[in-house]
Amino acid sequence: MKIFQTVVELQKHLLEINQLGQRTIGFVPTMGALHQGHLSLIDAARKESDYTVCSIFVNPTQFNDPEDFKRYPIQIDRDLEMLLEAKCDVAFVPNVEEIYPHGTLAKVDIDLGFIGTTLEAAHRPGHFEGVLQVVKRLLDIVQPDKLFLGQKDYQQCMVLQRLVQHCQLPVEVVICPTLREPDGLAMSSRNVRLSAEERSAAVKLSKALNAIREHIQQTPLDELLSEQQAMLSADPLISVEYLVVVHGETLEPVDTYKQTVPLTALVAAKVGPVRLIDNLILT
Ligand code: AMP
Repeated sequence: MKIFQTVVELQKHLLEINQLGQRTIGFVPTMGALHQGHLSLIDAARKESDYTVCSIFVNPTQFNDPEDFKRYPIQIDRDLEMLLEAKCDVAFVPNVEEIYPHGTLAKVDIDLGFIGTTLEAAHRPGHFEGVLQVVKRLLDIVQPDKLFLGQKDYQQCMVLQRLVQHCQLPVEVVICPTLREPDGLAMSSRNVRLSAEERSAAVKLSKALNAIREHIQQTPLDELLSEQQAMLSADPLISVEYLVVVHGETLEPVDTYKQTVPLTALVAAKVGPVRLIDNLILT
């Protein structure tokens, strides 16, 4: 595996690779502290493209909470070992100056419409502006054929699909399923920050989503959401930001279940000091 820290070196290498024949490049952007969920994206990229590039960059501009940024886990040596073992071809580990040589003020100006105002956008002001900024820059640098994203970040997938459409980028977006711990907790880099008690409480987020999926055909939606909200709120370690069932393609609110309407359940909650998100496609 090649490891590059600068844009110039990475691009020189990718040009050489390209000159060796028409190779499709699969790209997996990450913020490091890698887990099996990330590695499942590397696997998908390896299967669906000829050459796999993974970036590790903790993007400061997508953190609305400076404390969250400060506490974001960093374990670069372990990450590189995991990527090597996963047979990733290139690890790109730039510093902030490489990504933002002219500073961080220039933003990508895209009107996201409703998806840019609801759920994560409402709870983390400026977050998606930072995500758009960093992913646009990374796509310009790597120029991949395929971009691999995790469904775990459901709204982020929608935002990045908009980016690709809006800028008419010649890249295919591939969305990969959420990998979970055996008890159902969605894998996340942030899980390492949970204490033993918080870790036990955190599983309730996926339990709530599963209960919604199980009962949505029989129980009125408002009743079901109140029940699950109450189940989560009964735990003193959990503070729910949202627990919703929305239209799966627009994130618009829905108030009744209809089999023909795509529905997704999403949750965001603080478990102790750690903010976690999860989702489940219902129909
Ligand atoms: P992050 O390092 O959190 O920015 O995530 C990098 C990529 O990995 C994003 O596309 C995430 O959606 C994806 N990802 C994070 N957690 C999981 C998971 N549990 N299963 C599958 N993909 C994931």
